[in-house]
Amino acid sequence: MRRTDADVVVIGGGPSGATVAAEAARLGARVVVLEKREGDSPSRAGVIQPRVLELLDARGLMGRFRDAAKDWRPDFEVPRYIYAGLVGLRYDLLDSAHPYALILPQTTTEHLLRAWATEAGAEVRRGVTYVEHTEDDDGVTVTALDADGATVTLRAGFLVGADGARSTVRTHLGVPFEGRETEMTAVSIDADLTFPWEASMQMRRNENGWILAYPFGQRTTRFIIVAEARRTVPRGEPVTIEEVRESLRAIFGDDFGVTTAKWVSRYGDAHKMTPYLHRGRVSLVGEATRVHYPASGIGMNYCIQDAFNLGWKLGLVATGDAPEALLDTYDGERHPVLREVMDDIAAQCKLHFDFTPGGLRLKDFVESELIPIPEVNAILCDRLSGFGTSYHRQDDPHPADGTRVGEMPLGDRRYTEVAAGSAFVLAERADGAPTTRALPSRVTRVVTGEPGFARELAGAAAALIRPDAYVARAWDTTPSDREVEAAYAEAVGYGVR
Ligand SMILES: Cc1cc2nc3c(=O)[nH]c(=O)nc-3n(C[C@H](O)[C@H](O)[C@H](O)COP(=O)(O)OP(=O)(O)OC[C@H]3O[C@@H](n4cnc5c(N)ncnc54)[C@H](O)[C@@H]3O)c2cc1C
Repeated sequence: MRRTDADVVVIGGGPSGATVAAEAARLGARVVVLEKREGDSPSRAGVIQPRVLELLDARGLMGRFRDAAKDWRPDFEVPRYIYAGLVGLRYDLLDSAHPYALILPQTTTEHLLRAWATEAGAEVRRGVTYVEHTEDDDGVTVTALDADGATVTLRAGFLVGADGARSTVRTHLGVPFEGRETEMTAVSIDADLTFPWEASMQMRRNENGWILAYPFGQRTTRFIIVAEARRTVPRGEPVTIEEVRESLRAIFGDDFGVTTAKWVSRYGDAHKMTPYLHRGRVSLVGEATRVHYPASGIGMNYCIQDAFNLGWKLGLVATGDAPEALLDTYDGERHPVLREVMDDIAAQCKLHFDFTPGGLRLKDFVESELIPIPEVNAILCDRLSGFGTSYHRQDDPHPADGTRVGEMPLGDRRYTEVAAGSAFVLAERADGAPTTRALPSRVTRVVTGEPGFARELAGAAAALIRPDAYVARAWDTTPSDREVEAAYAEAVGYGVR
């Protein structure tokens, strides 16, 4: 094999690329991230959803995310959320240590994720733009340009295209991007106000459109606006402050004296997806694989969840601890999840963009009659929060197999503390567990007498938990070493059923 500069080269240091890099590097892969920007990207996403909060917690990162959010605004936890622009979703009823959306600008989220990637050992090179790559039997050769326009060549085992909606990696590979172009547009503005916006999230709608407003830092309020009269304005048409004020007056009844903004964007509902996420030595992740209307603020969050799924697999494959076949499971697990997300976003858009009398009546009905029904609330919360994702298969023997793991007690420690420094975790109830076990080196064992453990894992006596906090295999009775080893081998791609 030729000498390589890295095990994994990641193109793009946004939320997806930084997370993949961190996850692969923390398991020992040599990772280089090439990011074309030297400065910050525009803020865009404003919230982190509960499942991503659980995953960040499982890496010991919640403290710094909460501190950053607190600096940004005191009431940074949002326990009541929106679906298709309708209010009243009860995140506070979620069974989680994080039953809320965390308000944080994407710029800060990206800083924190890149810092984590660097601490985990990844090298982030800024001002370097990917141009093309070639792939052969034992690796990839990546060609890029540095900030001075000089050619940079890198040889690596694997390539990840995390370069966003207009992905050059995807285009270079010729991967189809199927769907439709923008039909409707909306406007987001981080407006400077001369007074602090005291209320938390506020929504207004009428025949003129819909607005969601929430404080986004000191004396800055984010207004997300769908104006009935302007929803077919092309995406490329610049947003004017007068247009924003007009919409605020027509929908909110007040323009709040907005004259300046930190950021404005007109964005569309283009709806496109790649038919697969991984082939050979190249994976695509995040918005390189799909674009959709940013309904309910879940886009970045599903990107980060993809990255958690791919990152540990790359880490183990690159270090020789798992076969390359493990990477195919990234596609097998995430593509169906993303198809569902896309279908749900399409449905939300139908409801969201309709301001006819019938459309407004339907919104009222869903908001006041359906969302308050606990079962409906639970379904919608699961979809947005990411808790609805399960890798459980029909032939899985235990109901907990493939399900998510959140925070839970494990003996005198917490799951998140153990997970932060581990790859796989074998959690076992004390009764019946052997004193010692011979386990694969990537498995950390914890024996616990805590009752909370059994509740989290559908009464299981033991569970092997993957690095991305999903159960690989659970057992009702204490498993033998051989059973654990077989479950581990299957989870890392050796023994596929
Ligand atoms: C107006 C708006 C509001 C949104 N609101 C929300 C929200 O509230 N909640 C939410 O969850 N999501 C939201 N989103 C979606 C969210 O912004 C994206 O899902 C997220 O940025 C995708 O992350 P990514 O890392 O996949 O791609 P990106 O963030 O696009 O990152 C790609 C990175 O790759 C780099 N890059 C590109 N080409 C190259 C190259 N050739 N070489 C090297 N580097 C390259 C780019 O500079 C960039 O840093 C919103 C989006 C928009 C447009």
